[in-house]
Amino acid sequence: MSVSRVYANVNLNKPKEYYDYENFTLEWGVKDKYQITKKIGRGKYSEVFQGVQVLNNEPCVVKVLKPVRKGKIKREIKILLNLRGGPNILQLIDLVKDENSIYPALISEFVNNTDFKILYPTLTDFDCRYYTYELLKALEYSHSCGIMHRDIKPHNVMIDHEKRVLRLIDWGLAEFYHPGENYNVRVATRYFKGPELLVDFQQYDYSLDIWSLGCQFAGMIFGKDIFFRGKDNYDQLVKIAKILGTDGLYDYLHTYKIELSRNFLNMIGRHSKKQWNRFVNSSNEHWAVPDALDLLDHLLVYDHKQRYTAQEAMAHPYFDVIRKEEAKKQAREYIKQKKEKVMDLDDEDIDEIVKQQEERKQK
Ligand code: AMP
Repeated sequence: MSVSRVYANVNLNKPKEYYDYENFTLEWGVKDKYQITKKIGRGKYSEVFQGVQVLNNEPCVVKVLKPVRKGKIKREIKILLNLRGGPNILQLIDLVKDENSIYPALISEFVNNTDFKILYPTLTDFDCRYYTYELLKALEYSHSCGIMHRDIKPHNVMIDHEKRVLRLIDWGLAEFYHPGENYNVRVATRYFKGPELLVDFQQYDYSLDIWSLGCQFAGMIFGKDIFFRGKDNYDQLVKIAKILGTDGLYDYLHTYKIELSRNFLNMIGRHSKKQWNRFVNSSNEHWAVPDALDLLDHLLVYDHKQRYTAQEAMAHPYFDVIRKEEAKKQAREYIKQKKEKVMDLDDEDIDEIVKQQEERKQK
């Protein structure tokens, strides 16, 4: 049995209504409050439109869910509601149902995203650190709420670069973590699937999201759209093994008593562990700095229990500049508030302060 190193009992300590999404009653809002303007995306389970909120003319996103298992829809909604207001979690605005169709729709905030294939190559080293840290905040929050996303990839990370806003979207595959539960390994998108999924190990946990984030991060710092590009799920593990080496993979299989078929083992073969430095060249050296490579080394780890947690990743020196910048921003905000308070003082307030000072002096 494998149990998460962190937040293992979060759901056990919550009331049943928190995670029992099957018995959750959906409440539908008024559909006329939103108007669709254009189609912006299409997922496996949904069609996504840009829209406006009639009341305030603010943009929104309308995600019309295709008919799937009722439980799956309830799970996505319950999870979005549980996480609502958390850092960088896509904000759910409303749930509506069209009278003419049976399809439910999720109304959420709109993010003016730039496609990652266009955006990432334009980012500075600081930006890479900043957006990775913002994504880690969303993961740390979600994990601390007992929820794993299970489909982390650049397509699900919306970035409005002008506003420097990042939101983690598409919670359709997300699930509540219960220690000891056997989960379906058919989650995440092939290039971002963790070794646990590829070797059919069902007792995985939040650390799956960290692997996927590691794949995304590797793509970002080495200037590649996709870092491990497998042709199918078997080949995906082969691509990983050619870089992380097979010694670590066999240790992992041994630790969790996982058996692979002879055929699969033959496909994998034997490979040495490659140094991350190998992938650094003149066009990516400004992103792939030593601290970035060290962080990556703690994210792309076969053994899911040995990977950094989101919190550990956030504490890595790679993010020192980001944490410093945040502390400065908070200090500026604090000073601004204090200043505003001082400016608001009238003569009576000032007399009172002088009186208090004199009383203090006399004591
Ligand atoms: P999803 O099924 O939630 O992954 O959405 C499919 C596609 O719609 C995404 O890959 C985005 O291109 C787009 N999309 C979804 N939600 C938003 C949003 N809040 N803001 C902007 N674009 C979105």
